[in-house]
This record gives sequence, structure tokens and C-alpha cells, in this order.
Amino acid sequence: MSVAIRARGVGRAFGAIWALRGVDLTVAWGERVALLGPNGAGKTTLLRLLATLLRPTAGDLRVADLPLPGAADRVRGLIGYLGHQPGLLPDLTAWENLWLAGQLAGVPDLADRCAVWLARVGLWERRADRVRTFSRGMQQRLALARAFLADPPLLLLDEPDAGLDAQGLDLLEDLLAGGRTVLLTTHHLERGLALASRAVVLVRGQVVADAPAAALDPAAVRAWCAA
Ligand code: ATP
Repeated sequence: MSVAIRARGVGRAFGAIWALRGVDLTVAWGERVALLGPNGAGKTTLLRLLATLLRPTAGDLRVADLPLPGAADRVRGLIGYLGHQPGLLPDLTAWENLWLAGQLAGVPDLADRCAVWLARVGLWERRADRVRTFSRGMQQRLALARAFLADPPLLLLDEPDAGLDAQGLDLLEDLLAGGRTVLLTTHHLERGLALASRAVVLVRGQVVADAPAAALDPAAVRAWCAA
């Protein structure tokens, strides 16, 4: 049966630096997995590989059984990606940012969906304002709306909690509930363990732990991250 993500021996080098080495990871549909680890561990690199923004240097990487990078076009239709930076177009309005992303992704009923998502993330009143006038947290809310706009079956979220206030964090929790398949990173260990059903710890490009989130002790994860 197809799984959402399957990585076997995946590596990615940048020049002489191996950001990922021999990564094995299987994520079933419906799982919410937190990818944890210290700065430079390779979390963003793994998400960027899955988001088809980078190619693996070694190993076999698949989304919904589709191999990467060969089937990148089809994989793009299955994922919603929130990058390390919000990656919005600052001179366009909030509405225009969502509209453009939706047009490129071929989202049906786009006007309705843009309205629903702007309201959901609390930006309906600011829809006609240029994104360069937005605070960091407002930009993050809009970037989250863009990731969810097409209702993709797999969400790849790089530090989705960055810049969010308490209400924004509640919103994030709501967005992640309800059986969605999610791979996310966060530097807030307790939050990551609460948002996810499973946690995978990366250190220096390698998986050092992979366990149900409830079974992982944040102190142990901190010790791995400091090692
Ligand atoms: P952080 O928690 O700080 O966001 P991370 O776990 O997401 O870190 P990555 O951004 O994946 O880590 O980086 C992993 C390694 O790959 C680091 O050594 C980094 O310097 C290197 N790296 C990442 N992207 C590039 C790049 N485009 N060019 C060169 N090296 C890179």
C-alpha cells in the first residue's frame, strides 16, 4: 500500500558538506510527524527535498510512491509547503498572494477559497494591504493559508509556529488536527511533541531517534540536540 513519504538511504551534499546522510523514514497517510534537531541538523534540507526544491544526492525518495526528482511535477500537486521564510511577494496584497498561488496550482473555486482562508487566519480585514506592511506573524499566517489553500493531502511545514502569537498557535493546532498528513519542524520541543503523533530526531544529517511523540522525553531530545 502507498505511504505518504518513503526515504531509503537518502543523502544530500552541498559541496563537501553532507547535510543528510543515509536517512530512512516512512510516514504513513494520516501521521503527523515532528522533525526535531539542532541548528544545521538537516531538517530544512529534508523538507526542501520533499518539496521538490532540491534533488537528493543519494538514495531513494518517494512521495505517494512517486520517485523524486523524476515525478516532481506530480508530487507538487500533492503537497502544501511552508518554507523557512514565508516566501510571499511583498508588493502584492494578501489577496493577490493567495490568488496567484491558487492560479498556479489550479485551485478550483479560487475566490471562495481565498476568502475562506483569509478569514480563517484572521487576515480578511487586511486582504487589500500589501504584504510588506505586515508583521512577521501576519506574514506567517498568510503563508500558512497559502500552504493549505489547495487542501493538499501532504503538508510540509518548516517552523510553522515561527512568529505566531498565542491565538496563532491555537489556529495552527486547529489546522493540524483532523487526520491530515504533516511533516513539520520546530525548535519548540514541547510544542512539537504536542502537535505531532510521532517525532523524528535528526542530528548532523542522521536520524538518531524515531518514536511516538508521547514516548519521547523532551530532556532526552535536548541531550541529543546538544551532543
Ligand atoms: P536550522 O534548525 O538552523 O534551521 P536545519 O536543521 O534546518 O537547521 P539545514 O538548513 O537543513 O539545517 O542545513 C543542514 C546543513 O546543510 C548545514 O550544514 C547547512 O550549512 C548546509 N546547507 C543547507 N543549505 C545549503 C546551501 N544551499 N548551500 C550550502 N550548504 C547548505
